[in-house]
Amino acid sequence: MPSSAFATLPLSAATLANLDALGYTEMTPIQAQSLPVMLKGLDLIAQAKTGSGKTAAFGIALLEPLNPRYFGCQSLVLCPTRELADQVAKELRRLARSADNIKILTLCGGVSIGPQIGSLEHGAHVIVGTPGRIQEHLKKGSLKLDGLNTLVLDEADRMLDMGFYDAIAEIIGQTPNKRQTLLFSATYPAGIKQLSATFMRDPQQVKAEALH
Ligand code: ADP
Ligand code: MG
Repeated sequence: MPSSAFATLPLSAATLANLDALGYTEMTPIQAQSLPVMLKGLDLIAQAKTGSGKTAAFGIALLEPLNPRYFGCQSLVLCPTRELADQVAKELRRLARSADNIKILTLCGGVSIGPQIGSLEHGAHVIVGTPGRIQEHLKKGSLKLDGLNTLVLDEADRMLDMGFYDAIAEIIGQTPNKRQTLLFSATYPAGIKQLSATFMRDPQQVKAEALH
C-alpha cells in the first residue's frame, strides 16, 4: 500500500518539521494525489470537496520553491471572496517557515486601496486576492507579476459563477508564460474546461473525495 506520509515527498527538512509541528502527519487524499505532480512543476487541475485540505496542498507546493531573498510576487492565489482569501492567507502563514520571513499579503476589494499600495511598496513573496482588486492594482502599476512562478485559481468554479472569467484572463495575460498554473475546484463545469484549455499547459488532472 502506498504510504501517505508527507516524508515520502521531496520536501525540505524544515517544511517536514513544520508540518509535523502543525499536526499534519498524513496527507489527505487530494494532497497525496496532487503534491507529487505540483512539486515537479507541472500544471494541475484538482477537484475535491470542501474540507479536503486543498489549501495546504497548493500552499506546500507554492511555498517550497520560494526565494525568500526576492521580494517580488512569486505566487499569486486568486479566490472568489475576501473571506476565502483571508482563510487561505491564514493557512499559508501557518505553513510558511517562520525563519524565512515569507511575506504573505492579501489584496481584496471592500477596503480602501491606498494602504494596500503602501504594503506592496515593501514587497511580498505571496499575494492572495480577489480578481477585481488584483486587476485594479495591475492597472495602477502598484502590482507587477513578471516574476511570478506559481498561479493558483482557488475555488475556480465559484469564481466563474461570479463572472470573473474576463478578469482572470486579463490577470493571466500579465504573468510570464513559463509559470505553473494550479486550478482547484469542487466541481468541473464547462467554464473550467475553457479556462484550462486556454491558459494551462498539459494539465494533469486529479480528483479525490472529502476527508471527513
Ligand atoms: P478545502 O480548501 O479543501 O475546503 P481546507 O484547505 O480549508 O479544505 O482544509 C480543511 C481543514 O483540514 C483545515 O482546518 C486544515 O487545517 C486541515 N488540514 C489540511 N491538511 C491536513 C492534514 N494533512 N492533516 C490534518 N489536517 C489537515
Ligand atoms: Mg479551499
